[in-house]
Amino acid sequence: MSNDYDVVILGAGAAGLSAGLYSTRAMLSTLMIESIGPGGQLLITDDIENYPGFREGVKGQTLADEMYNQAERFGAKMEYAEIEGVENLYDDRKLVRTSEGDFTARALIIATGGSHNKLGVPGEDEFGGRGVSYCAVCDGNFFRGQDVVVVGGGDSAMDESFYLTGICNSVTIIHRRDDLRATKVLQDRAFSNPKYKWLWSHVVEEFVGNDVLEAARVKNVKTDEVYDYPTAAAFVYVGFHPNTEAFQEKLEMDELGHIHGDLHMRTNIPKVYVCGDARAESTRQLGAAVGDGITAALAAFHDLSA
Ligand code: NAP
Repeated sequence: MSNDYDVVILGAGAAGLSAGLYSTRAMLSTLMIESIGPGGQLLITDDIENYPGFREGVKGQTLADEMYNQAERFGAKMEYAEIEGVENLYDDRKLVRTSEGDFTARALIIATGGSHNKLGVPGEDEFGGRGVSYCAVCDGNFFRGQDVVVVGGGDSAMDESFYLTGICNSVTIIHRRDDLRATKVLQDRAFSNPKYKWLWSHVVEEFVGNDVLEAARVKNVKTDEVYDYPTAAAFVYVGFHPNTEAFQEKLEMDELGHIHGDLHMRTNIPKVYVCGDARAESTRQLGAAVGDGITAALAAFHDLSA
């Protein structure tokens, strides 16, 4: 495989795969670099109900496969590697260092997405893989027919907990306030489902157990009462952070590490673009990530042709 491309895309989630499709169709030699597998967050999402064109929804894995196969059909290449750093960003040939070697490109498209935040409480790491999880689609089946908790009150918590209601006996939402942050339609769906239980105004202080997780130690923030809430599993959805460590102090970012891009996804460095959840001001929606990726590839085509 060549190590030099017109365009190297860092990340092959929805944004990266969309950029790859448009970049190759513009006859630019294109490499996508991804550490796990094509699809990014699609791979940890069960049903997607709000991506236009699928009246009955679509499985995340199915959409990921289709997006990847489509980009590959037009010639996009894939390298499975960890991104270690980027250098020479102002040069004609920008350098990407990875676990599988170095790659150069005339243009870089950053589509590294983001990852779910941890709570940062005792026991969270200790019971990782033994009850504490950040992926209901991956781990929910281990807890079939059991009582589980989901921590958080945003769209992720509601989407993932809904998936769990199809598998588990009950799903208790532990949320630090009395109001959910999630979109109204997701709230309504949850409130009408009898499998849900609610611990409002509660925070998790610790995960406890012996060999495996046995309870979430919770605090009622209104009364300060602390007690153990038995659970077979805890799925944590308390926000999201961009995967942009490799670009710190190289590109302009907001205070949370999202990279600034203009309407064409151009960053502050010529021929370096950002798209999807790594971009500041992103709405963090699948459809928006696809649009970002397409826009970035079109901007790269325009700039490389100038
Ligand atoms: P989010 O919207 O930031 O929600 C995080 C939730 O976790 C909030 O309810 C927050 O409570 C709570 N939280 C944060 N830190 C906490 C802590 N230390 N302890 C306890 N609770 C804590 O994150 P998200 O749900 O992952 O969503 C991220 C983005 O992706 C959003 O823009 C969302 O719209 C989008 N998304 C969309 C869909 C969809 O369209 N179906 C699905 C998933 C995600 P507070 O409410 O009190 O702040």
